[in-house]
Amino acid sequence: MNYYNHNTIVYSDGEFIKATEAKVDLYTQSLHYGYSAFEGIRSYRTEAGKTKIFKAAEHYQRLRYSTDALSIPFNYSVEELIDVTYELLQKNNLQDAYIRPLVYGPANMSFNKNDKSHFVMAAWEMPLFLGDKLIRVMTSSFERPNPRGFKILAKASGHYVNSILASYEAKANGFDEALLTDMNGYVAEGPGANVFFEKDGVLYTPAKGNILPGITRATVIEQCLELNIRVEEKFFKPGDMHAADCCFYCGTAAEIVGLESLDNIPFKFKWEESFGYVIQKAYKNLIREKNGDDANIGVAQLLKTEAAR
Ligand code: PMP
Repeated sequence: MNYYNHNTIVYSDGEFIKATEAKVDLYTQSLHYGYSAFEGIRSYRTEAGKTKIFKAAEHYQRLRYSTDALSIPFNYSVEELIDVTYELLQKNNLQDAYIRPLVYGPANMSFNKNDKSHFVMAAWEMPLFLGDKLIRVMTSSFERPNPRGFKILAKASGHYVNSILASYEAKANGFDEALLTDMNGYVAEGPGANVFFEKDGVLYTPAKGNILPGITRATVIEQCLELNIRVEEKFFKPGDMHAADCCFYCGTAAEIVGLESLDNIPFKFKWEESFGYVIQKAYKNLIREKNGDDANIGVAQLLKTEAAR
């Protein structure tokens, strides 16, 4: 994947510069110890042709939360961050883009606190993180970071060593992606996405506590309210998911992606007959600010099918 070329502009410590001319200090604490905070954001070309950063305020509030939680100095306001992002998109002539702000530390090989930080932001066109087909998932041998060991609500770079290990393991075993449990053996999330499953007309998702409760997860829950789909947040085991009717992952980068199987056990319903499919449609409408009537019709049809089952 090419993230930039000779024309690409990035934002770096208050300036718009060429990506090819950006420099990073080799002695930054972040590179050596994973001590930095970031966001993953998407912008879309709306139905009306405008560029819209989806849930911009929520993402930048989380970035500010992450830097505070990690004691990384960071003084940008949410409004300033949104303005910089729109300017960056415009300078790169991007509408459908993935946006990556990163707050990282100065040269510091010790474990002492920094009194300043660096801030960069890049944007590029990125396909769906987990593709646009149903994915085959395996329960990972890796657990998500324990909340007693990490500030798990922060999007800290170092947490992603855990994500990469789990994803590598799944791929090495012939799967597309991993499902990680928490330290109590309950289902937590994917390496970069939250999870929902459908059973007997209800959607379930892991309760908060040991997960990164994503912005897309919150959006899905809001959509379910609008679409009259019952959602419950609770703790459950991978075995409960093996018996599910359907399942999907959700996240900013992946959007909504259905699972074909978990641990080689296929889900009962066809994707097109599941709540996940309707939510995927509704989500696609929402991000592009498109009239969403087709999703409502989809749910009404599904509920009828459900009743007839
Ligand atoms: N869990 C993890 C571990 C993630 O990295 C992500 C991606 N940020 C998510 C869940 C989904 O979060 P969001 O919907 O806010 O992108």
